[in-house]
Amino acid sequence: MSAKIQAPRGTYDVLPPGAAERAQLESTAAKILGRAGYGRIETPTFEATPLFSRTVGEATDVVQKEMYTFPDSSGDSLTLRPEGTAPVVRAYLEHGMHKEPQPVKLWYLSSFFRYERPQAGRFRQFWQIGAEAIGSADPAVDAELIVLLGELLEALGARDTKLVLATLGQSEARAAYREELKAYLRAHEDRLSPEVRDRIDLNPLRAFDAKHESTQRVMVDAPRLIDRLPQEDLDHFEEVKALLDAADLPYEVDTTLVRGLDYYTRTLFEFQSGALEAAQNTLGGGGRYDHLAEQIGGPPTPGMGWAAGVERMLMASTQPPPVAPPVELYIAYEPSQKANAFRLAADARRAGHSARLELAGRSVKGQLKQASRSGARYVAVFGDEGVQLRDREGGEDKVVAPETVMHHIRGDL
Ligand code: AMP
Repeated sequence: MSAKIQAPRGTYDVLPPGAAERAQLESTAAKILGRAGYGRIETPTFEATPLFSRTVGEATDVVQKEMYTFPDSSGDSLTLRPEGTAPVVRAYLEHGMHKEPQPVKLWYLSSFFRYERPQAGRFRQFWQIGAEAIGSADPAVDAELIVLLGELLEALGARDTKLVLATLGQSEARAAYREELKAYLRAHEDRLSPEVRDRIDLNPLRAFDAKHESTQRVMVDAPRLIDRLPQEDLDHFEEVKALLDAADLPYEVDTTLVRGLDYYTRTLFEFQSGALEAAQNTLGGGGRYDHLAEQIGGPPTPGMGWAAGVERMLMASTQPPPVAPPVELYIAYEPSQKANAFRLAADARRAGHSARLELAGRSVKGQLKQASRSGARYVAVFGDEGVQLRDREGGEDKVVAPETVMHHIRGDL
């Protein structure tokens, strides 16, 4: 026997009950985002590698360690998308969407790929629902998007959620701050974890995210970006907060919030859930990315968006699973009647009924067992003497002509 082939590590199969739950999540998201004017977008599963290396950032874990990058047969470097924002901005530029009324509002439900250590709530192929509003720097865009993710999580009954908010300001202030933070980290180098120490130059902000205790103590007194931001960034942030207040959405400001993608400017946020394990407790998050379009060769175009993990939302959700619609008709038959039975099943389905037909050669007795297991209300048994029709919710068995079975179950005979 050949060795058994299994799904790659960190991937999973979506089986029918799981697929029904996802379809329900998708329709909830479509409703909430659709009524706010977001249109669905789908971009390719793979993109040119620089789309991600330039935007997500060369120094990030995503680009350094987690991308599935490969040359295709013509030698072009392609990458399985690790995130959805850069592809959506690429599509916005490529399709000249700047000519439409701004902001252009788009949403997606797609799968993404990151070579991460697989664990609960962390996969190598995972799905995200995301929303992006491109073409306006108005703080109302930020607030609207945050409120919409809050609404989605509420509709799912996500347990124990908390909105955490921060602001990063624009790149100049951040660059100056980075230098200040690097100098601070260097001055305390001996107390930092080796990972943080090795990355002082590449990614000093990640030090705030370290789980290492001594590093955490060093970071308590580290300079904070929010104290170094120019007034216009602070004003933008104040307005986002005021609009969230107006929408009655509570939040917590955490100036040390960091997310693993480099393109963010100004607003940054996350919804966390206490129902999930601490290391994977972020249901979703996002922020503003006012320079992303320029990084991929477009004109300056502000943008804001978020992505939320489908697996984590389903884990935190208390929405009751969808109920499958009941089977209406089960069609059993003697072997000689197979073609007649088959015809009725096809006709019944074309007429909009849900019908099941024996497909594994069981005896009539075995078929009747399947019929009751299926919960079908009507059972039609094709025999040589005609069709016996049973209404399992009462009434007597009737012998009917094959072409009248549907009339009987519709009650018009
Ligand atoms: P990010 O694109 O990193 O901002 O992630 C947004 C959300 O996607 C996270 O909050 C998670 O819910 C989800 N997510 C990110 N990476 C993974 C992964 N490897 N497995 C499952 N969900 C993920």
